[in-house]
Amino acid sequence: MAAPARPAPPVEPWRDPGAQPFVRIEGVTKTFGKFYACDDISLDVYRGEFFAILGGSGSGKSTLLRLLAGFEAPDKGRILIDGVDVTALPPYQRPVNMMFQSYALFPHMTVAQNIAFGLKQDRLPAGEIRDRVQHMLELVQMPQLGNRKPDQLSGGQRQRAALARALAKQPKLLLLDEPLGALDKRLREHTQFELVNIQEKVGTTFIMVTHDQEEAMTMSSRIAVMDAGRIVQVSTPAALYEFPATRFVAEFIGGINLFEGRVLSQDLDAGLVRVQCDQLEAPLLARHTDFVPEGTAVSVAVRPEKIDVHEQRPQADNVAVGKVRDIAYLGDVSIYHVQTEAGAVIRVQETHVERSSEPHYDWDGTLWLSWPASSAVVLTA
Ligand code: ADP
Ligand code: MG
Repeated sequence: MAAPARPAPPVEPWRDPGAQPFVRIEGVTKTFGKFYACDDISLDVYRGEFFAILGGSGSGKSTLLRLLAGFEAPDKGRILIDGVDVTALPPYQRPVNMMFQSYALFPHMTVAQNIAFGLKQDRLPAGEIRDRVQHMLELVQMPQLGNRKPDQLSGGQRQRAALARALAKQPKLLLLDEPLGALDKRLREHTQFELVNIQEKVGTTFIMVTHDQEEAMTMSSRIAVMDAGRIVQVSTPAALYEFPATRFVAEFIGGINLFEGRVLSQDLDAGLVRVQCDQLEAPLLARHTDFVPEGTAVSVAVRPEKIDVHEQRPQADNVAVGKVRDIAYLGDVSIYHVQTEAGAVIRVQETHVERSSEPHYDWDGTLWLSWPASSAVVLTA
């Protein structure tokens, strides 16, 4: 009997030491006066990636994108695209296009004219322009809407038309600055999937800036988290969520409990650390394989959905007890805030697998919480 077909292994060029990055940012710094908008940034992006730059407002995301596009020149460092040093090249000589959040379309032109605009400027033959415009309209699923003006389109359609125009010139790299920022929540979620499907179809490398962690998580192959002009971590969405490198990343991505404390002891062979926390009675046990000296101030991070709830004291690596202070019912899940005697408020998430209109646990009831050492992350930075 033939062996069952196996899914192809995931393509993850960043794990391949021989892979050549498609975009290489090398020690790039950009200052405005004395202010460091981008501070010594190094980053590799691989061909075909949907790469997200995620950070709060003012963290330097747009500046980094503008440096890639050539609208800004770095004070220091180099930028290579497809092996070519483009640091000194003006925007129009880079194989790059940029899609902005707003002002994306010319209002007096039809969608087709908008898409054709850059191609006409490049003096492509009329027949080829017509073919490419039609192809782009089909790609963004608007084959019938080429004759509409932008104000005759919905928000989502406008966004897709802008994408079609940005892709028509077949850039090797497309830069997107908060591309879905103008859309309301429902449309935004829908358009996220569309954008990813289109990117997979054309295979163009996308670098997208966003301040929305959910958007970055759902859409991208990898995420660079920026804070104050620096990149603090570059990882896949899952690695960023499960293995945050710093407190900042842990708190920026999703809900999390952070317990402050000091290292009591470490068992390097077992890969375990014991931490005495200020607001918990019993020391916490966490998996950690890097050396941390005794007495080091650390945070132990635990995601709310990794915590189990019990009505009796359980047997587990980590146990805490407390009273329910708040319950938020969200339909699919409930969030419990459980306060320990020493003052910690622990956020716990329970998924509603079975239908019931009754809350699972009582107000002011005593609850036992537990989580395994493997669910806890020790953060030293
Ligand atoms: P983000 O896109 O992450 O919100 P930006 O890259 O737009 O952040 O800006 C980062 C910082 O650099 C901000 O504090 C901003 O005020 C500053 N900045 C950006 N562009 C300029 C400029 N042309 N002149 C002076 N300051 C600027
Ligand atoms: Mg910005």
